[in-house]
Amino acid sequence: MGPTIRSMFEQTVAKYPDKEGLVDLRLGKRWTFREWDEEVNRLANAFRASGVEKGDRVSTVLFNTAEFAHVLFACLKIGAIFNPINFRLTEKEITFILEDADPKIVVFENATARQVAGTAKALQGIQYWSIDQHELSFAVNFYQQMEGMEATRPDCELSEDDTYAIMYTSGTTGLPKGVLHSHRDMIDQAVIMAGVVQVTERERGLVTAPIFHCAELHCAFFPRVMMGATNVIMHHFDPKAVLTYIKEEKISSFFAAPTMWNMMLQEDLTNADFSDLEIGFYGGAPMAPALVKQLHDKMGIKLLQAYGMTEMGPAITALMEDEQLVKAGSAGRAILNHEVRVVRTREDGPSEPEDICGPNELGEIIVRGPSMMQGYYKRPEATEEAMYKGWYHSGDIGAFDEDGYLWVSDRVKDMIVSGGENIYSREVEDALFDHELVMDAAVIGEPDEMWGETVVAYVVKKDEALTAEELDEFCTSNNRLARYKRPRRYEFVSELPRNASGKLQKFKLREQVKEM
Ligand code: ATP
Repeated sequence: MGPTIRSMFEQTVAKYPDKEGLVDLRLGKRWTFREWDEEVNRLANAFRASGVEKGDRVSTVLFNTAEFAHVLFACLKIGAIFNPINFRLTEKEITFILEDADPKIVVFENATARQVAGTAKALQGIQYWSIDQHELSFAVNFYQQMEGMEATRPDCELSEDDTYAIMYTSGTTGLPKGVLHSHRDMIDQAVIMAGVVQVTERERGLVTAPIFHCAELHCAFFPRVMMGATNVIMHHFDPKAVLTYIKEEKISSFFAAPTMWNMMLQEDLTNADFSDLEIGFYGGAPMAPALVKQLHDKMGIKLLQAYGMTEMGPAITALMEDEQLVKAGSAGRAILNHEVRVVRTREDGPSEPEDICGPNELGEIIVRGPSMMQGYYKRPEATEEAMYKGWYHSGDIGAFDEDGYLWVSDRVKDMIVSGGENIYSREVEDALFDHELVMDAAVIGEPDEMWGETVVAYVVKKDEALTAEELDEFCTSNNRLARYKRPRRYEFVSELPRNASGKLQKFKLREQVKEM
């Protein structure tokens, strides 16, 4: 029987018992690996005492907290399936996920109590455990449930093929689907990412992006646990606080979504101290080349990018530190043991894996590798469609350049067709980000009688002085954008809908536009 995440965790505990493994900045608490293991065992025994058995689901609606990490490992100790839910979702969305995942226990906190309370009214038979003190008729206290529990390791037969988690996709292109990952998927991803990020036991990583998302969890948090490094957990992202903690906690690495990096760039960096920071990595959404350059120039830190999706665990390609400036904007090349292809899209069915595009020819990005999901929970048809002929069909459009670097252009569903020409929103957004007064930008197609669709840009500006005329002039000058790709209209907005992981939610933007 191969290794499981439980065995990996326990191996780290045996190797580094007295080393600091986990820090929760909100609680002001620190755990050595041995203390962490004991806390997790107590919780696993509490889960068992409350009726959780192997294969049962346990959900969390938590921000970044130590309790999130405890629940995760406690599930693995008893073979329960961990189901981390996005803390930003509405009551309706959480109800949808809970109905689908059907957990025995939901763990939540003050900050998510409002959304969770509504689900408790709608769903019967679920136990609600709160990590904070409050009197809620539908919930019990997490720590009270652990009281009197032994710290002995619970027995459990586990195999590397057992499902370890159900992670729901962001739902940026439809209803969220439950992605099933096995212990083996996760270990493969963590081992490969530990190599990509070059994690050693000396690392101190700041957990600042949402930990429920597999980019933070599988590419940053887990590789550190595996290598005996320290995870320092920040409850939620705050650009000022990140800069302070980097200095105070001697942080050597952290992951943040492009929009978070953008927010840090807006801070006063004169007193920032990046001397311990060995690597900053980003991904989960496109980063405009202009932002990559600004990060490099203003922060002077080493950067690394990963591209992927929940279904793949998530990382499939990486742009390494020394490639950042020469290939700024590219998603890089396949990570170890992963295969990435760009294939021609078809009107009448899934893209064929053998119909491969040439260099710079745009097509659908398809991929296969060891950390590919087991499938979607309870959705065999969606699974079959997504994993056609053994390749995960990402729904992303992109191309390889002549050097073999992947460039992601758009989601198939976000591509704009205007006057018969395909326009990829990413290209237009990147051009807008080149303007120094653009803080954020999203480009969508809106119905147009003459052209079918017309390009419209929604822009958050840094300075009131910026006008639509100036942006139009900027986009067309120096051949920045072909004329047919330039936005026909600019709308200035105070913010754009982005989810907790910093991804643009264009479906929400379209809904907002309809209501305008
Ligand atoms: P749903 O499938 O429900 O719409 P989602 O695909 O947004 O959700 P995720 O798995 O969180 O859910 O996101 C994966 C997508 O994020 C990718 O398919 C891609 O479009 C985008 N993405 C991730 N990393 C990058 C990156 N480095 N550069 C560009 N796009 C990225």
